[in-house]
Amino acid sequence: MLDDYRNMLRDIIIDGLKEKGYSSFTPPQIEALKTGFLRGGSIVVCAPTASGKTLIGEIALAYAFLNGFKGIYTTPLKALAYEKYNEFSFWEKYGAKVAISMGDYEVTEEEVKRLGQYDIIVATYERLDSIMRRRPPWIKNVGVIVIDELHMLGDESRGHIVEMIATRAKILGIQVIGLSATIGNPEEIASWLNAKLVKSSWRPVKLYEVPTYRASDGSFVMFFPKELNGDGSPVMVDDVTRYWIERAVKEGFNVLEFKYSRKGVEELAEQYRDVVCSYLNDDDRKRLELLVQEMKTELPDFEYEKLEHLIRCGVSYHHAGLTPEARRVIERAFRDRIIKYLSATPTLAMGVNLPARVVIINSYYYSGGGREKISVLEYKQLAGRAGRPQYDPYGIVIVAKDIRSAREAEYYIKGIPEPITSTLLSESALRRHVLAVIASGEANTLNDIMVFFSNTFAAMKMGRDVLSKKISKILELLEELNMVRSRRIANTSLYEATKLGTATSMLYIDPLTAAIIVEGLRRAEKASELYYLSLIGMTPDFSDVNIGRGAKKAYYDLIESYAVSKQLPDEELEQMFADRKIDWVRGAIIGLILTDWVNEVPERRIIEKYGIEAGDLRVIKENGEWLTYSAAVIANTLNMQSHSKELFKLVERVEHGVKEDALELVKIRYVGRVRARVMINSGIRNIEDVISKEHLVVKLFGDGWGKKIVEEARKMRIRG
Ligand code: ADP
Repeated sequence: MLDDYRNMLRDIIIDGLKEKGYSSFTPPQIEALKTGFLRGGSIVVCAPTASGKTLIGEIALAYAFLNGFKGIYTTPLKALAYEKYNEFSFWEKYGAKVAISMGDYEVTEEEVKRLGQYDIIVATYERLDSIMRRRPPWIKNVGVIVIDELHMLGDESRGHIVEMIATRAKILGIQVIGLSATIGNPEEIASWLNAKLVKSSWRPVKLYEVPTYRASDGSFVMFFPKELNGDGSPVMVDDVTRYWIERAVKEGFNVLEFKYSRKGVEELAEQYRDVVCSYLNDDDRKRLELLVQEMKTELPDFEYEKLEHLIRCGVSYHHAGLTPEARRVIERAFRDRIIKYLSATPTLAMGVNLPARVVIINSYYYSGGGREKISVLEYKQLAGRAGRPQYDPYGIVIVAKDIRSAREAEYYIKGIPEPITSTLLSESALRRHVLAVIASGEANTLNDIMVFFSNTFAAMKMGRDVLSKKISKILELLEELNMVRSRRIANTSLYEATKLGTATSMLYIDPLTAAIIVEGLRRAEKASELYYLSLIGMTPDFSDVNIGRGAKKAYYDLIESYAVSKQLPDEELEQMFADRKIDWVRGAIIGLILTDWVNEVPERRIIEKYGIEAGDLRVIKENGEWLTYSAAVIANTLNMQSHSKELFKLVERVEHGVKEDALELVKIRYVGRVRARVMINSGIRNIEDVISKEHLVVKLFGDGWGKKIVEEARKMRIRG
């Protein structure tokens, strides 16, 4: 009972939790409370998905607030940050001010100031790292930092950011609450954070992991536990997915199938569309029709066209090629069980809370021809999606449709996630963070820099001399790139960031990105938009973006045939790839894509031309905006005024995807790149025209939209 914890927790929290509908604590929550973490000690909570870890963090935030401290909650994704922000806003009725810090990577001085007024702050990892680099004066009032999905510490591309957040918390003496479902070496991580470990295997919904083998005739054998299948004898079916879909539609639950390729999940959705369709009843069809109508108005037409015939049948796929809008609609419909079968890439398992009674793992190999098996950690993340508390009596995981033996199945079912290792010492991570620490003034002498990094997880397993060597090498690089300057003082070296270094750190870009931009701008007095956009496209901060396999492969082949014709030895070719000498390839493609985008080429055409998808274009556009802005700021910092002027203009064009003459019109709400061009073609060129030619606007866009647009234009004129 909650009341048993009154003396430990304060009345307000107990009352608040009751009001939220909780009547008791889950076992991991009780274990956590028993550690006495509310007195300030750090904890690492390792417990299955949906076992109530968030609430442990939430209690810590509320408790800190009641004691006059701030609390921060950090998550890997914007969508998760929104979810948590909405959840924690509950405490506003008890006087806590709750904020979410969003938007671009660069955190402005005003934003830092604004956050000073809040008690509970939710932010993504990158955003929080960026905030901490500013060393806000209010950081001394922060009582606790909750790190959601702590296993991300081991993530190849983002783990180092989590590590920096936790390291700073450690140095500043801030309590850390780390939450995760899948850590193989929690003892080690807890010991690094000087934290107590809370380990629990309690689940709100029982999870059955069902080994499923493929027989020689192509049929499947499922080995159910006795609880699910009276006599425990194996169940043979022709098609596992079909079997579960049939049961799902009849019994009213839904099925999620994971596969590691976009094309693969699209094919699955097509393959099972008719099966689901044939079982739908009238009520289902009615609800699906409404969903289809909604998608028609909310999504770009070419995306709607690809999905419509699937959605109508209660089926969809889900991957990063979809726009965020499409993903959101699909997620909601799946949660509401309007969509019965969803095939998804694992991005879904990393994201928002979206459980299903049955999770099918299509293959335990990554796709792409390779024969690399998925990790246990990865498997546990996917399996964790099975079973929805309050709705499902249990969750079922089909442990890979291509498992061949009991041993292979047990490798995953009984497996312990691989130990998490640090990613901070890669050159690309270290150069960012060493610069950040110097630019922020957190450490400026060689000795202090060493002390700072000796607090990292990476340092735990590494001799001081190895660490020292790595850091010295990075410092040399940063000097070479003109990001820092050093002076000998007494018997130590003092490091200071240059103007360029400070700007680079604040912009949250890789020092190498900044250096490439500087070099590119210096070489051209005047440049075309293609030049600017290719320049940012070849920087390492654009390297994670999907630019269409077809184009990439064509360029790679070209390079290879060049190497062959020149009879370059294999090692040299490999070196070219390893040195990323071919980043210009990516730069050229991105330059072309973004140039089309700012010249109002229709989205559909861009997507077809480059073999990318709507979701990719969105990411390219957002990344492009951030890096064009960064280039503009860098140009300004280095007094390259004409570049800076051109680049600032280009930022806005990338943001809206328009030519220069449409920039005023797209600032009006409800006016995007397409409507703006329609207006310009009819002689409406600015806000004044919209107002004075109201009848024409209404004629172009109809009574509803037309009037709305004019009204918005009027509001803008009043605001000036
Ligand atoms: P986790 O973070 O461990 O994945 P969540 O915190 O999201 O799990 O909790 C899963 C669900 O359980 C949520 O809907 C949450 O509201 C609910 N929950 C959490 N704690 C309790 C509790 N003590 N009693 C009842 N429901 C709870």
